[in-house]
Amino acid sequence: MFDSHFHLFSGTSFVGDTENFGFTVGIHPEFAHTFNEKDFLHFVENNKDNPKFYAIGECGLDYHRPDLPSLDIQEKVFIRHIEIANLYNKPLVIHSRDAYRDTLKILKEHKPKNEFLLHCMSYDVEFAREFPDAYFSIGWFITVKKYKDMLEKVVRFIPRDKIVIETDAPYLAPRHDKIKEVAKRVGEILGMTAKEAEELTASNAKRFFRCL
Ligand SMILES: [Zn+2]
Repeated sequence: MFDSHFHLFSGTSFVGDTENFGFTVGIHPEFAHTFNEKDFLHFVENNKDNPKFYAIGECGLDYHRPDLPSLDIQEKVFIRHIEIANLYNKPLVIHSRDAYRDTLKILKEHKPKNEFLLHCMSYDVEFAREFPDAYFSIGWFITVKKYKDMLEKVVRFIPRDKIVIETDAPYLAPRHDKIKEVAKRVGEILGMTAKEAEELTASNAKRFFRCL
């Protein structure tokens, strides 16, 4: 019917706890051309009262590779996801890679009504400044030379109750212990122990996904 992508955002204490697994429903921009609105809405409608259905997403824009669906299709599908999240009163998980300007534009013109989270943050503090209520998810990029200084500024800037961390497995760093490194690094930046950073980000993730 359609591809689904599952991600878990949390501190390590949350990861090991299978009763807290849930799902989000979305068409990743890489598969935007497969979006079938009728099937999608049917699935969302049928699952709307499932307590494990946490959010709409991943959805968004990805201009990273030339073989991805056209910008036109990606934009249209992203906007429909925002509208469906608004309609069903769900939080929204956004994927955005190499699409800073268009992501900003769409989120300003088609405002999500509920909380949204930018996963695998790879943009600068200026982007974060545009969305003071958004959640930002920090992944393994924070340990990578190309991104680490930029993301350190992001972690310092965003409100503490809006930071979450993630593995983005299996796409980035599929080793589970990598999330510990991310927590440790976030903790160092915020002047916390790794454990405190794990607890903070786990509780932020639970609030975002409304699974308190
Ligand atoms: Zn993604």
